[in-house]
Amino acid sequence: MNDKGSWARYERLRKITLVLWAAWFPYVFLLAWWMRGRWDRFPLPLFVFNLIWFLALTVVGLRVGYWPCPRCGKSFFLRFGLFKTRGKECPHCGLRYGSPG
Ligand SMILES: [Zn+2]
Repeated sequence: MNDKGSWARYERLRKITLVLWAAWFPYVFLLAWWMRGRWDRFPLPLFVFNLIWFLALTVVGLRVGYWPCPRCGKSFFLRFGLFKTRGKECPHCGLRYGSPG
């Protein structure tokens, strides 16, 4: 599993997650302000857009959270698939963050 592009991909995916996540709250506030008192006439395309956004955030969030270690393939940031590690090194094989497998 020697994949030097893995960390670059991880960084890109993490940025996408942060942008989607950070933009969500102002968006919801704007939406609430714009929709005030008209929730019974919520437009379907907007609902679909929100759903897609939410699903995209879930998918990239999970992919970032369960990012596989380039060396051993186990999740780099989670121990036992549950507990967050410090993210400096793989809890399974000790690979340092950013170094190729
Ligand atoms: Zn590892």
